[in-house]
Amino acid sequence: MTLLSVRNLRAYYQTEAYGISRTVQAVDGISFDLFPNEIYGVAGESSCGKTTLIKVISGNIKHPLKVLEGSVIYNFNGYQVDMLQISEDELRRNVRWKQISYVMQGSMSVLNPVRKVIKTFEDIVRTHEGITDKKKFLEQTRAHINRLGLPTDVLNAYPHQLSGGMRQRVAIALATVFQPALIIADEPTTALDVVVQRGVLHMIKDIQAMSKNTVLLVTHDMAVHANVTDRMMIMYAGRIAEEAPTESIFNAPLHPYTQHLINSLPMIGEKTTRTSLGGSPPNLANPPGGCRFHPRCPHVMDECRTVVPDLVTVKERHRVACHLFKEDSV
Ligand code: SF4
Repeated sequence: MTLLSVRNLRAYYQTEAYGISRTVQAVDGISFDLFPNEIYGVAGESSCGKTTLIKVISGNIKHPLKVLEGSVIYNFNGYQVDMLQISEDELRRNVRWKQISYVMQGSMSVLNPVRKVIKTFEDIVRTHEGITDKKKFLEQTRAHINRLGLPTDVLNAYPHQLSGGMRQRVAIALATVFQPALIIADEPTTALDVVVQRGVLHMIKDIQAMSKNTVLLVTHDMAVHANVTDRMMIMYAGRIAEEAPTESIFNAPLHPYTQHLINSLPMIGEKTTRTSLGGSPPNLANPPGGCRFHPRCPHVMDECRTVVPDLVTVKERHRVACHLFKEDSV
């Protein structure tokens, strides 16, 4: 069963200022599936379209972002949602928090700085569940906090009284209070130090193992993907370069861009100098034709400059968009 099916998604930013129109092709023809009970990673450099992709699949499509083409269909245990057609009212009542929740980088933006943590829980649970019995609400919230291994006194603290790591854990606890089918975590550990980062990642893994739901983890940090995700996609300039089980991405990367990402990771004890890739990611307001990676690719061929490579399945569960690979060729 598929939890989310995204097909040929094209989402662009279209702006008009001083008579000049500008189109940024942030997500350009993306197709992928998410399944229940997996942690799926999305990796790629800044401005490769990761955030735009999650904005669209979480139903957060606001001007100047526009979906030009494609479909985003969820199946929450028989409850089908067409994310590009659903009304804002249904999204708010039945989908956000209950079926899809969102953990973002800055937890302070979820927690109200002038209210105790318990009040934020109360607002969300009341709005979405209509619970008016205060005792029942407190019991449920405490049980949830305990289940996640957090001390219950965090509920009576103001956000500024908690460390950054604890605030992020509280934000994750909030996002999972209804045990949603999909948790989207957007760079959830980027602002945290390494030790705290490990704790937050363990918490995400533990929640997924307990609830058997799906986590979509977006981060540029390949080490995080290596430790946490089951499958992953590598995005480059608004398109999928490669998608495979995480183990295959790290042990046998196929796309030249993925190979560069893996080869540039520092290894403990290794003394060789890492080389960086020449050039920089393209401007998506004016991307290069053909394969968007061609100006930086060490294997570039003539056809790469003009023909967009299809994302082909080179072996089971492994897709690559590169002219070096054909269907079932690995
Ligand atoms: Fe390199 Fe060509 Fe493959 Fe693009 S299609 S990654 S330019 S070899």
